[in-house]
Amino acid sequence: MPAITKDESILWTALFEQSGDAMVVLRQDGSVYRANRRYAEMLGYTPDEMNALSVWDWDTRFSKEVLLEMLVAVDNSGAHIDTQQRRKDGTFIEVELSNNGAEYKGEKLVFCIVRDTTARNATEKNLRQSEERLQRIASQIPGALYQYRIAPDGTRSFPYFSEGIIALGGLTLEQLSGSDTDPVMSRILPEDAVDIETKAQKSASALTQFHTEFRIRHGDGSIRWIEARSTPAKEADGSILWTGILLDITQRMEAEEKVRTMAITDGLTGINNRQEFSRLLDKEIERAIRYNTPLTLVMYDLDHFKLVNDRFGHDTGDDVLRTVVKLTNDNIRSTDFHGRWGGEEFMVLLPQTTLEAALDVAEKLRLAVAGHQFSHVGTVTASYGVAELAPQENARSLAQRVDEALYRAKDRGRNRVEVYEA
Ligand code: GH3
Ligand code: MG
Ligand code: MG
Repeated sequence: MPAITKDESILWTALFEQSGDAMVVLRQDGSVYRANRRYAEMLGYTPDEMNALSVWDWDTRFSKEVLLEMLVAVDNSGAHIDTQQRRKDGTFIEVELSNNGAEYKGEKLVFCIVRDTTARNATEKNLRQSEERLQRIASQIPGALYQYRIAPDGTRSFPYFSEGIIALGGLTLEQLSGSDTDPVMSRILPEDAVDIETKAQKSASALTQFHTEFRIRHGDGSIRWIEARSTPAKEADGSILWTGILLDITQRMEAEEKVRTMAITDGLTGINNRQEFSRLLDKEIERAIRYNTPLTLVMYDLDHFKLVNDRFGHDTGDDVLRTVVKLTNDNIRSTDFHGRWGGEEFMVLLPQTTLEAALDVAEKLRLAVAGHQFSHVGTVTASYGVAELAPQENARSLAQRVDEALYRAKDRGRNRVEVYEA
Protein backbone atom coordinates (compact mmCIF):
# COMPACT_ATOMS: atom_id res chain seq x y z
CA MET A 1 0.00 0.00 0.00
CA PRO A 2 1.44 3.42 -0.89
CA ALA A 3 2.44 5.64 2.00
CA ILE A 4 -0.09 8.27 2.95
CA THR A 5 0.33 11.38 5.02
CA LYS A 6 -1.13 11.55 8.51
CA ASP A 7 -3.94 13.99 7.64
CA GLU A 8 -5.03 11.88 4.79
CA SER A 9 -4.98 8.82 6.96
CA ILE A 10 -7.61 10.46 9.18
CA LEU A 11 -9.74 11.11 6.12
CA TRP A 12 -9.39 7.54 4.90
CA THR A 13 -10.35 6.26 8.33
CA ALA A 14 -13.31 8.58 8.79
CA LEU A 15 -14.77 8.45 5.31
CA PHE A 16 -13.63 5.13 4.01
CA GLU A 17 -12.96 2.62 6.77
CA GLN A 18 -15.81 3.69 9.07
CA SER A 19 -18.39 4.04 6.32
CA GLY A 20 -21.54 1.98 6.63
CA ASP A 21 -21.40 1.57 2.86
CA ALA A 22 -19.22 -1.09 1.30
CA MET A 23 -16.45 0.55 -0.72
CA VAL A 24 -13.53 -0.58 -2.79
CA VAL A 25 -10.89 1.36 -4.68
CA LEU A 26 -9.44 -0.39 -7.73
CA ARG A 27 -6.44 0.26 -9.88
CA GLN A 28 -6.89 0.29 -13.64
CA ASP A 29 -5.18 -3.11 -13.82
CA GLY A 30 -8.01 -4.57 -11.75
CA SER A 31 -6.09 -5.04 -8.51
CA VAL A 32 -7.43 -3.79 -5.19
CA TYR A 33 -5.97 -0.48 -4.05
CA ARG A 34 -8.01 -0.52 -0.88
CA ALA A 35 -11.24 -2.21 0.32
CA ASN A 36 -13.10 -1.12 3.44
CA ARG A 37 -14.14 -3.43 6.25
CA ARG A 38 -17.77 -3.34 5.27
CA TYR A 39 -16.97 -4.59 1.77
CA ALA A 40 -14.59 -7.27 2.99
CA GLU A 41 -17.37 -8.47 5.31
CA MET A 42 -19.85 -8.44 2.47
CA LEU A 43 -17.67 -10.81 0.46
CA GLY A 44 -16.53 -12.79 3.52
CA TYR A 45 -12.81 -11.94 3.33
CA THR A 46 -10.51 -10.18 5.75
CA PRO A 47 -9.39 -6.72 4.53
CA ASP A 48 -5.89 -8.15 4.04
CA GLU A 49 -7.17 -11.00 1.90
CA MET A 50 -9.08 -8.46 -0.17
CA ASN A 51 -5.97 -6.43 -0.82
CA ALA A 52 -4.41 -9.42 -2.57
CA LEU A 53 -7.33 -9.85 -5.02
CA SER A 54 -8.32 -8.45 -8.39
CA VAL A 55 -11.86 -7.55 -9.41
CA TRP A 56 -12.30 -10.66 -11.62
CA ASP A 57 -11.68 -12.83 -8.57
CA TRP A 58 -15.16 -11.97 -7.34
CA ASP A 59 -17.11 -10.46 -10.24
CA THR A 60 -18.96 -13.26 -12.05
CA ARG A 61 -20.91 -11.31 -14.65
CA PHE A 62 -18.14 -9.77 -16.72
CA SER A 63 -15.02 -11.34 -18.23
CA LYS A 64 -11.54 -10.10 -17.30
CA GLU A 65 -11.25 -8.34 -20.67
CA VAL A 66 -14.53 -6.51 -20.26
CA LEU A 67 -13.67 -5.55 -16.68
CA LEU A 68 -10.35 -4.08 -17.78
CA GLU A 69 -12.07 -2.12 -20.52
CA MET A 70 -14.62 -0.84 -18.02
CA LEU A 71 -11.93 0.25 -15.55
CA VAL A 72 -10.21 2.30 -18.23
CA ALA A 73 -13.47 3.84 -19.39
CA VAL A 74 -14.75 4.94 -15.95
CA ASP A 75 -14.86 8.71 -15.60
CA ASN A 76 -16.18 10.87 -12.78
CA SER A 77 -19.85 10.74 -13.83
CA GLY A 78 -20.83 8.18 -11.14
CA ALA A 79 -21.94 5.40 -13.52
CA HIS A 80 -24.18 2.65 -12.09
CA ILE A 81 -23.56 -1.00 -12.89
CA ASP A 82 -25.60 -4.01 -11.79
CA THR A 83 -23.55 -7.15 -11.41
CA GLN A 84 -23.13 -10.36 -9.48
CA GLN A 85 -20.22 -11.13 -7.15
CA ARG A 86 -18.93 -14.32 -5.58
CA ARG A 87 -18.24 -14.50 -1.85
CA LYS A 88 -15.26 -16.35 -0.45
CA ASP A 89 -17.60 -19.20 0.53
CA GLY A 90 -18.77 -19.57 -3.07
CA THR A 91 -22.26 -18.03 -2.61
CA PHE A 92 -23.39 -15.14 -4.78
CA ILE A 93 -24.73 -11.67 -4.11
CA GLU A 94 -26.32 -9.18 -6.45
CA VAL A 95 -24.85 -5.72 -6.19
CA GLU A 96 -25.23 -2.29 -7.66
CA LEU A 97 -21.97 -0.35 -8.14
CA SER A 98 -21.56 3.42 -8.28
CA ASN A 99 -18.22 4.02 -9.96
CA ASN A 100 -16.15 7.17 -10.07
CA GLY A 101 -12.77 7.50 -11.72
CA ALA A 102 -10.24 9.95 -10.24
CA GLU A 103 -6.52 10.73 -10.21
CA TYR A 104 -4.94 10.08 -6.84
CA LYS A 105 -1.25 10.70 -6.25
CA GLY A 106 -0.51 10.40 -9.94
CA GLU A 107 -2.38 7.17 -10.34
CA LYS A 108 -5.76 6.69 -11.99
CA LEU A 109 -8.08 4.92 -9.53
CA VAL A 110 -11.68 3.77 -9.63
CA PHE A 111 -13.72 4.43 -6.47
CA CYS A 112 -16.67 2.03 -6.10
CA ILE A 113 -19.56 2.16 -3.65
CA VAL A 114 -21.18 -1.28 -3.51
CA ARG A 115 -24.81 -1.90 -2.58
CA ASP A 116 -26.13 -5.38 -1.93
CA THR A 117 -29.33 -5.61 -3.98
CA THR A 118 -29.94 -9.34 -3.46
CA ALA A 119 -32.80 -8.77 -1.02
CA ARG A 120 -34.25 -5.90 -3.03
CA ASN A 121 -34.09 -7.91 -6.25
CA ALA A 122 -35.66 -10.91 -4.53
CA THR A 123 -38.47 -8.74 -3.16
CA GLU A 124 -39.04 -7.20 -6.57
CA LYS A 125 -39.06 -10.63 -8.15
CA ASN A 126 -41.54 -11.95 -5.58
CA LEU A 127 -43.74 -8.94 -6.09
CA ARG A 128 -43.63 -9.39 -9.84
CA GLN A 129 -44.43 -13.06 -9.48
CA SER A 130 -47.32 -12.54 -7.11
CA GLU A 131 -48.72 -9.82 -9.35
CA GLU A 132 -48.49 -12.16 -12.33
CA ARG A 133 -50.14 -14.88 -10.29
CA LEU A 134 -52.96 -12.53 -9.24
CA GLN A 135 -53.47 -11.49 -12.84
CA ARG A 136 -53.58 -15.08 -14.00
CA ILE A 137 -56.12 -15.99 -11.31
CA ALA A 138 -58.16 -12.86 -12.02
CA SER A 139 -58.32 -13.73 -15.71
CA GLN A 140 -60.01 -17.03 -14.81
CA ILE A 141 -62.89 -15.30 -13.04
CA PRO A 142 -66.05 -14.92 -15.12
CA GLY A 143 -66.24 -11.27 -14.10
CA ALA A 144 -63.88 -8.78 -12.55
CA LEU A 145 -62.03 -8.18 -9.31
CA TYR A 146 -62.21 -4.62 -8.08
CA GLN A 147 -61.39 -2.16 -5.36
CA TYR A 148 -63.49 0.86 -4.52
CA ARG A 149 -62.44 3.62 -2.18
CA ILE A 150 -64.28 6.41 -0.43
CA ALA A 151 -61.78 8.90 1.00
CA PRO A 152 -62.53 10.86 4.20
CA ASP A 153 -63.40 13.92 2.06
CA GLY A 154 -65.94 11.81 0.15
CA THR A 155 -63.83 11.40 -3.00
CA ARG A 156 -64.55 8.12 -4.73
CA SER A 157 -62.24 6.05 -6.87
CA PHE A 158 -61.61 2.57 -8.23
CA PRO A 159 -57.93 1.87 -7.36
CA TYR A 160 -58.06 -1.54 -9.03
CA PHE A 161 -59.95 -3.45 -11.70
CA SER A 162 -58.90 -6.77 -13.15
CA GLU A 163 -58.97 -7.06 -16.92
CA GLY A 164 -62.41 -8.71 -16.86
CA ILE A 165 -64.06 -5.34 -16.28
CA ILE A 166 -63.62 -4.51 -19.95
CA ALA A 167 -65.84 -7.36 -21.13
CA LEU A 168 -68.18 -7.09 -18.11
CA GLY A 169 -69.08 -3.47 -18.74
CA GLY A 170 -68.26 -3.19 -22.41
CA LEU A 171 -65.80 -0.48 -21.44
CA THR A 172 -62.62 0.69 -23.13
CA LEU A 173 -59.22 0.94 -21.44
CA GLU A 174 -59.38 4.69 -22.06
CA GLN A 175 -62.63 5.03 -20.14
CA LEU A 176 -61.06 3.19 -17.24
CA SER A 177 -57.69 4.90 -17.13
CA GLY A 178 -58.81 8.21 -15.64
CA SER A 179 -59.28 8.68 -11.90
CA ASP A 180 -62.89 9.69 -12.51
CA THR A 181 -65.40 7.05 -11.34
CA ASP A 182 -68.07 8.40 -13.72
CA PRO A 183 -67.36 6.23 -16.77
CA VAL A 184 -68.05 3.20 -14.58
CA MET A 185 -70.75 4.57 -12.27
CA SER A 186 -72.76 6.15 -15.08
CA ARG A 187 -73.34 2.64 -16.49
CA ILE A 188 -75.53 1.76 -13.50
CA LEU A 189 -79.25 2.25 -14.08
CA PRO A 190 -80.38 5.28 -12.00
CA GLU A 191 -83.18 3.29 -10.35
CA ASP A 192 -80.60 0.84 -8.97
CA ALA A 193 -77.95 3.41 -8.01
CA VAL A 194 -79.82 4.64 -4.92
CA ASP A 195 -79.95 1.14 -3.43
CA ILE A 196 -76.22 0.65 -4.09
CA GLU A 197 -75.38 3.91 -2.30
CA THR A 198 -77.53 2.98 0.71
CA LYS A 199 -75.88 -0.42 0.97
CA ALA A 200 -72.38 1.04 0.56
CA GLN A 201 -73.02 3.51 3.39
CA LYS A 202 -74.28 0.73 5.63
CA SER A 203 -71.29 -1.46 4.75
CA ALA A 204 -68.90 1.43 5.42
CA SER A 205 -70.27 2.35 8.83
CA ALA A 206 -70.59 -1.22 10.15
CA LEU A 207 -67.66 -2.62 8.13
CA THR A 208 -69.88 -5.47 6.98
CA GLN A 209 -69.89 -7.29 3.65
CA PHE A 210 -71.29 -5.36 0.70
CA HIS A 211 -73.57 -7.50 -1.46
CA THR A 212 -76.00 -6.33 -4.08
CA GLU A 213 -77.42 -7.02 -7.50
CA PHE A 214 -78.01 -4.25 -9.99
CA ARG A 215 -78.41 -3.50 -13.66
CA ILE A 216 -76.00 -1.73 -15.96
CA ARG A 217 -76.19 -0.54 -19.52
CA HIS A 218 -73.41 -2.49 -21.24
CA GLY A 219 -71.23 -0.82 -23.87
CA ASP A 220 -73.13 -2.79 -26.54
CA GLY A 221 -76.39 -1.14 -25.40
CA SER A 222 -77.89 -4.20 -23.68
CA ILE A 223 -78.99 -4.27 -20.04
CA ARG A 224 -76.95 -6.66 -17.88
CA TRP A 225 -77.43 -7.84 -14.32
CA ILE A 226 -74.33 -7.56 -12.15
CA GLU A 227 -73.73 -9.07 -8.72
CA ALA A 228 -71.24 -7.27 -6.50
CA ARG A 229 -69.67 -8.75 -3.37
CA SER A 230 -66.91 -7.03 -1.46
CA THR A 231 -65.42 -6.58 1.97
CA PRO A 232 -64.63 -3.14 3.37
CA ALA A 233 -61.53 -2.24 5.35
CA LYS A 234 -60.72 1.02 7.08
CA GLU A 235 -57.36 2.44 5.99
CA ALA A 236 -54.93 4.47 8.07
CA ASP A 237 -56.11 7.77 6.54
CA GLY A 238 -59.75 6.96 7.33
CA SER A 239 -60.64 5.85 3.80
CA ILE A 240 -62.91 2.86 3.33
CA LEU A 241 -61.49 0.44 0.79
CA TRP A 242 -63.69 -2.35 -0.57
CA THR A 243 -62.09 -5.35 -2.24
CA GLY A 244 -64.30 -7.78 -4.07
CA ILE A 245 -65.78 -9.25 -7.18
CA LEU A 246 -68.25 -8.30 -9.89
CA LEU A 247 -70.10 -11.06 -11.74
CA ASP A 248 -72.38 -10.96 -14.76
CA ILE A 249 -75.53 -12.76 -13.55
CA THR A 250 -77.76 -11.81 -16.49
CA GLN A 251 -78.35 -15.42 -17.57
CA ARG A 252 -79.22 -16.52 -14.06
CA MET A 253 -81.60 -13.59 -13.57
CA GLU A 254 -83.29 -14.26 -16.92
CA ALA A 255 -83.67 -17.95 -16.09
CA GLU A 256 -85.12 -17.08 -12.68
CA GLU A 257 -87.49 -14.61 -14.29
CA LYS A 258 -88.62 -17.30 -16.75
CA VAL A 259 -89.28 -19.72 -13.90
CA ARG A 260 -91.20 -17.04 -11.97
CA THR A 261 -93.31 -16.26 -15.04
CA MET A 262 -93.95 -19.95 -15.76
CA ALA A 263 -95.08 -20.49 -12.19
CA ILE A 264 -97.88 -17.91 -12.49
CA THR A 265 -98.87 -18.36 -16.13
CA ASP A 266 -101.26 -20.76 -17.80
CA GLY A 267 -99.29 -22.66 -20.41
CA LEU A 268 -102.05 -22.88 -23.03
CA THR A 269 -103.33 -19.30 -23.04
CA GLY A 270 -100.54 -17.23 -21.49
CA ILE A 271 -102.83 -15.55 -18.95
CA ASN A 272 -102.71 -15.91 -15.14
CA ASN A 273 -103.16 -19.46 -13.89
CA ARG A 274 -105.70 -20.25 -11.20
CA GLN A 275 -103.22 -19.94 -8.34
CA GLU A 276 -101.98 -16.54 -9.46
CA PHE A 277 -105.50 -15.33 -10.19
CA SER A 278 -106.55 -16.33 -6.67
CA ARG A 279 -103.65 -14.37 -5.24
CA LEU A 280 -104.60 -11.32 -7.30
CA LEU A 281 -108.25 -11.70 -6.26
CA ASP A 282 -107.28 -11.69 -2.56
CA LYS A 283 -105.05 -8.67 -3.07
CA GLU A 284 -107.68 -6.70 -4.98
CA ILE A 285 -110.37 -7.50 -2.42
CA GLU A 286 -108.08 -6.17 0.31
CA ARG A 287 -107.41 -3.03 -1.72
CA ALA A 288 -111.11 -2.47 -2.51
CA ILE A 289 -111.96 -2.74 1.18
CA ARG A 290 -109.16 -0.40 2.24
CA TYR A 291 -110.01 2.31 -0.31
CA ASN A 292 -113.72 1.58 -0.32
CA THR A 293 -113.88 1.16 -4.09
CA PRO A 294 -116.13 -1.19 -6.09
CA LEU A 295 -114.75 -4.50 -7.40
CA THR A 296 -116.53 -6.81 -9.79
CA LEU A 297 -115.83 -10.35 -10.94
CA VAL A 298 -116.88 -11.87 -14.27
CA MET A 299 -116.76 -15.61 -14.90
CA TYR A 300 -117.33 -17.19 -18.30
CA ASP A 301 -117.53 -20.71 -19.69
CA LEU A 302 -117.75 -21.79 -23.31
CA ASP A 303 -121.07 -23.18 -24.45
CA HIS A 304 -121.25 -26.81 -25.55
CA PHE A 305 -117.51 -26.94 -25.78
CA LYS A 306 -117.54 -30.71 -25.59
CA LEU A 307 -119.11 -30.67 -29.05
CA VAL A 308 -116.27 -28.54 -30.43
CA ASN A 309 -113.75 -31.08 -29.18
CA ASP A 310 -115.82 -33.99 -30.40
CA ARG A 311 -116.30 -32.57 -33.88
CA PHE A 312 -113.00 -30.86 -34.59
CA GLY A 313 -110.56 -32.52 -32.23
CA HIS A 314 -108.81 -31.42 -29.07
CA ASP A 315 -106.14 -29.35 -30.88
CA THR A 316 -108.76 -27.24 -32.63
CA GLY A 317 -110.49 -26.92 -29.24
CA ASP A 318 -107.24 -25.55 -27.86
CA ASP A 319 -107.06 -23.02 -30.70
CA VAL A 320 -110.56 -21.88 -29.87
CA LEU A 321 -109.60 -21.39 -26.21
CA ARG A 322 -106.57 -19.31 -27.19
CA THR A 323 -108.66 -17.19 -29.54
CA VAL A 324 -111.37 -16.59 -26.94
CA VAL A 325 -108.71 -15.48 -24.48
CA LYS A 326 -107.24 -13.10 -27.05
CA LEU A 327 -110.66 -11.65 -27.93
CA THR A 328 -111.27 -11.10 -24.22
CA ASN A 329 -107.86 -9.54 -23.62
CA ASP A 330 -108.53 -7.13 -26.48
CA ASN A 331 -111.68 -5.92 -24.75
CA ILE A 332 -110.48 -5.33 -21.18
CA ARG A 333 -108.16 -2.71 -19.68
CA SER A 334 -104.55 -3.27 -18.75
CA THR A 335 -105.58 -2.71 -15.12
CA ASP A 336 -108.07 -5.62 -15.28
CA PHE A 337 -107.00 -9.20 -14.52
CA HIS A 338 -107.71 -12.23 -16.66
CA GLY A 339 -107.19 -15.80 -15.47
CA ARG A 340 -107.91 -19.39 -16.42
CA TRP A 341 -110.00 -20.89 -13.63
CA GLY A 342 -110.41 -24.40 -15.03
CA GLY A 343 -110.59 -26.26 -18.39
CA GLU A 344 -112.70 -23.78 -20.36
CA GLU A 345 -113.75 -21.53 -17.50
CA PHE A 346 -112.19 -18.12 -17.14
CA MET A 347 -112.39 -15.16 -14.77
CA VAL A 348 -112.02 -11.43 -15.37
CA LEU A 349 -111.52 -9.18 -12.36
CA LEU A 350 -112.48 -5.54 -12.80
CA PRO A 351 -111.09 -3.20 -10.10
CA GLN A 352 -112.90 0.10 -9.47
CA THR A 353 -115.82 -1.10 -11.53
CA THR A 354 -119.46 -1.16 -10.38
CA LEU A 355 -121.85 -3.99 -11.16
CA GLU A 356 -123.58 -1.83 -13.76
CA ALA A 357 -120.37 -1.04 -15.62
CA ALA A 358 -119.21 -4.66 -15.34
CA LEU A 359 -122.43 -5.85 -16.99
CA ASP A 360 -121.56 -3.68 -19.99
CA VAL A 361 -118.07 -5.13 -20.08
CA ALA A 362 -119.39 -8.71 -19.90
CA GLU A 363 -121.87 -7.98 -22.68
CA LYS A 364 -119.06 -6.57 -24.81
CA LEU A 365 -116.97 -9.70 -24.15
CA ARG A 366 -119.91 -11.95 -25.02
CA LEU A 367 -120.47 -10.14 -28.33
CA ALA A 368 -116.76 -10.24 -29.18
CA VAL A 369 -116.77 -14.05 -28.90
CA ALA A 370 -120.20 -14.65 -30.45
CA GLY A 371 -119.38 -12.36 -33.38
CA HIS A 372 -116.09 -14.03 -34.21
CA GLN A 373 -115.65 -16.54 -37.00
CA PHE A 374 -113.37 -19.27 -35.59
CA SER A 375 -111.38 -21.01 -38.29
CA HIS A 376 -112.72 -24.52 -39.02
CA VAL A 377 -115.27 -24.20 -36.24
CA GLY A 378 -117.39 -21.18 -37.19
CA THR A 379 -119.26 -19.55 -34.29
CA VAL A 380 -118.64 -20.26 -30.65
CA THR A 381 -120.50 -18.70 -27.76
CA ALA A 382 -119.90 -18.36 -24.05
CA SER A 383 -122.04 -17.66 -20.99
CA TYR A 384 -121.18 -15.01 -18.40
CA GLY A 385 -121.85 -14.54 -14.72
CA VAL A 386 -121.19 -11.24 -12.94
CA ALA A 387 -121.03 -10.40 -9.22
CA GLU A 388 -119.85 -7.35 -7.32
CA LEU A 389 -117.92 -7.65 -4.09
CA ALA A 390 -120.29 -7.19 -1.16
CA PRO A 391 -119.27 -5.57 2.15
CA GLN A 392 -117.49 -8.06 4.47
CA GLU A 393 -117.20 -10.57 1.65
CA ASN A 394 -114.21 -12.82 1.03
CA ALA A 395 -112.83 -14.28 -2.22
CA ARG A 396 -114.40 -17.67 -1.70
CA SER A 397 -117.89 -16.28 -1.30
CA LEU A 398 -117.51 -13.90 -4.26
CA ALA A 399 -116.29 -16.75 -6.49
CA GLN A 400 -119.23 -18.88 -5.38
CA ARG A 401 -121.73 -16.17 -6.26
CA VAL A 402 -120.22 -15.49 -9.67
CA ASP A 403 -120.31 -19.23 -10.35
CA GLU A 404 -124.01 -19.25 -9.49
CA ALA A 405 -124.60 -16.33 -11.83
CA LEU A 406 -122.83 -18.26 -14.60
CA TYR A 407 -124.94 -21.33 -13.87
CA ARG A 408 -128.02 -19.15 -14.22
CA ALA A 409 -126.80 -17.93 -17.64
CA LYS A 410 -126.37 -21.56 -18.75
CA ASP A 411 -129.73 -22.43 -17.33
CA ARG A 412 -131.48 -19.57 -19.10
CA GLY A 413 -130.25 -20.60 -22.53
CA ARG A 414 -126.46 -19.84 -22.74
CA ASN A 415 -124.75 -17.06 -24.78
CA ARG A 416 -125.96 -14.52 -22.21
CA VAL A 417 -124.90 -12.52 -19.17
CA GLU A 418 -126.49 -13.06 -15.78
CA VAL A 419 -125.85 -11.26 -12.55
CA TYR A 420 -125.87 -12.38 -8.94
CA GLU A 421 -127.09 -9.59 -6.73
CA ALA A 422 -126.18 -9.92 -3.10
P1 GH3 B 1 -121.75 -26.15 -21.26
O1 GH3 B 1 -122.38 -25.30 -22.30
O2 GH3 B 1 -122.73 -26.67 -20.28
O3 GH3 B 1 -120.60 -25.55 -20.61
O4 GH3 B 1 -121.27 -27.42 -22.07
P2 GH3 B 1 -119.81 -27.93 -22.20
O5 GH3 B 1 -119.76 -28.95 -23.25
O6 GH3 B 1 -118.91 -26.79 -22.44
O7 GH3 B 1 -119.64 -28.57 -20.83
P3 GH3 B 1 -118.48 -28.41 -19.79
O8 GH3 B 1 -118.19 -26.98 -19.56
O9 GH3 B 1 -118.85 -29.20 -18.60
O10 GH3 B 1 -117.32 -29.15 -20.54
C1 GH3 B 1 -116.01 -28.69 -20.62
C2 GH3 B 1 -115.34 -29.34 -21.80
O11 GH3 B 1 -114.22 -28.59 -22.16
C3 GH3 B 1 -114.88 -30.74 -21.48
C4 GH3 B 1 -113.44 -30.76 -21.79
O12 GH3 B 1 -113.07 -31.80 -22.63
C5 GH3 B 1 -113.16 -29.46 -22.51
N1 GH3 B 1 -111.92 -28.91 -22.13
C6 GH3 B 1 -111.52 -28.54 -20.89
N2 GH3 B 1 -110.26 -28.08 -20.92
C7 GH3 B 1 -109.85 -28.14 -22.23
C8 GH3 B 1 -108.65 -27.79 -22.92
O13 GH3 B 1 -107.67 -27.34 -22.33
N3 GH3 B 1 -108.61 -27.96 -24.23
C9 GH3 B 1 -109.66 -28.46 -24.92
N4 GH3 B 1 -109.56 -28.60 -26.23
N5 GH3 B 1 -110.80 -28.80 -24.30
C10 GH3 B 1 -110.90 -28.65 -22.97
MG1 MG C 1 -118.62 -25.26 -21.11
MG1 MG D 1 -116.93 -25.86 -18.03
